[in-house]
Amino acid sequence: MTVKTFNRGVFLPHYKKYSEDKPITTISLPEEVIIPLHQHTGAPCHAVVKVGDKVKTGQKIGESNAFVSAYIHASVDGTVTAIEPRPYFTGGQVESVVIQVDPDQKEPEWPERDIAKLSKDEIKAAIKEAGIVGMGGAAFPTHVKLSPPKAIDAVIINGCECEPFLTCDHRMMVEMTDELIEGAKLIARVVDAPRIIFGVETNKPDAIEALNAKIAGESNIEVIPLDVKYPQGSEKQLIKATMDREVPPGKLPFDVGVVVQNVATAIAVYQACRFEKPLYERVLTITGDGAAKPGNVKVRIGTPIGHVIEQCGGFKGASIEETELDKSEVRYPVFAPPHLVGKIIMGGPMTGWAQKRLDIPVVKGTSGILIFTPAMVVDSAHMSCVRCAKCVEHCPMFLYPNYIGVYAETGRYSLAAEWGAMDCFECGICVYVCPSNRPIVQFVRETKRRIAAARAAK
Ligand code: SF4
Ligand code: SF4
Repeated sequence: MTVKTFNRGVFLPHYKKYSEDKPITTISLPEEVIIPLHQHTGAPCHAVVKVGDKVKTGQKIGESNAFVSAYIHASVDGTVTAIEPRPYFTGGQVESVVIQVDPDQKEPEWPERDIAKLSKDEIKAAIKEAGIVGMGGAAFPTHVKLSPPKAIDAVIINGCECEPFLTCDHRMMVEMTDELIEGAKLIARVVDAPRIIFGVETNKPDAIEALNAKIAGESNIEVIPLDVKYPQGSEKQLIKATMDREVPPGKLPFDVGVVVQNVATAIAVYQACRFEKPLYERVLTITGDGAAKPGNVKVRIGTPIGHVIEQCGGFKGASIEETELDKSEVRYPVFAPPHLVGKIIMGGPMTGWAQKRLDIPVVKGTSGILIFTPAMVVDSAHMSCVRCAKCVEHCPMFLYPNYIGVYAETGRYSLAAEWGAMDCFECGICVYVCPSNRPIVQFVRETKRRIAAARAAK
């Protein structure tokens, strides 16, 4: 087996053992869901329901006329109790539709249709109508990504799941192989791509085997095994590894004739086309040494992470009182017990966002909830750069994170941008390898924010 990869990056401990062999299960519904109207790249949606309205699962509750946006749907049957700003996983607050869940609802049924008869425009319309976004974390609207201004000759399905701990894409590749392949074919049809590539890291041999078994005889589809290296699943590194094409700085995959989609997104595309099913639920991984029952669970969008954690056995070592929801004052305990939990992260450990509150809702891009005990968390102040160049040696974008960090730290944001801050995709490797614990990703984010504000003010 020939295994491919890209230059630089890092070999990380996998930590997949907690949940990689745990089949996908479905958790019960919470008492209420909190559905942010802006959980995607692009323009926010505005509510098309009002307080007091009864809604059904899959009903559109938010929309926008902007091209770069994604519709939002109710994830449960219930009653809208509030439309107001609520805490969001990246910090701050986002206008959200709060729905009191009807306890007597059934699993919704969706009519089947013949996807072979769908035209390209009908496929794209189904994707847009379903509110599908990139579910690997970026949450870029899929109907926009599938409208490239240039010819595409390959669709790459990203089955790397290269961040440690996460296993939901792995389980979907094994358990939903047919839906995944059909979704990939629909995506290829939309962009007229003659070739489909599944890029999968070799620590998922059962996924590689399942895909190979299903594509036997299909000459335009192949599975390319990839080295287990971070960030193998990042678009530019994935394209380099699988097709040996370089996406230049400032350019996008379509500039080299490629569209990349994540596993969960391809499955959502299939479900939208086959069943007209909106994106109102997703599979995520709950894991970490502080999770009582790690696994891969199907969760309705808007479910508070406290409910997901409770449904998955709570915090490891917690008494039931510590884990149970506090219904007397707030619907969920606002903070996790500090003697048991060092950190909770939404997403992967390299690019995810640390959370303090348990009433933060799962959104379309939430791939995982990681729970770490205090022993797993190293929390120390950052120091000056010691010029070891480890960050330069490992940066997959060939940047100079050391200079970006120093310039941003001292307020020289234009210089930080000149040294490549805008090309950084925030993989976190420079922070991981830095002996001085320098928060370079935070420096990069501040630089991007300042540069964008300066451009907007012109
Ligand atoms: S500078 Fe950006 S792209 Fe390079 S290692 Fe750091 S976070 Fe990753
Ligand atoms: S890894 Fe840290 S200490 Fe070393 S050069 Fe980069 S920023 Fe400086």
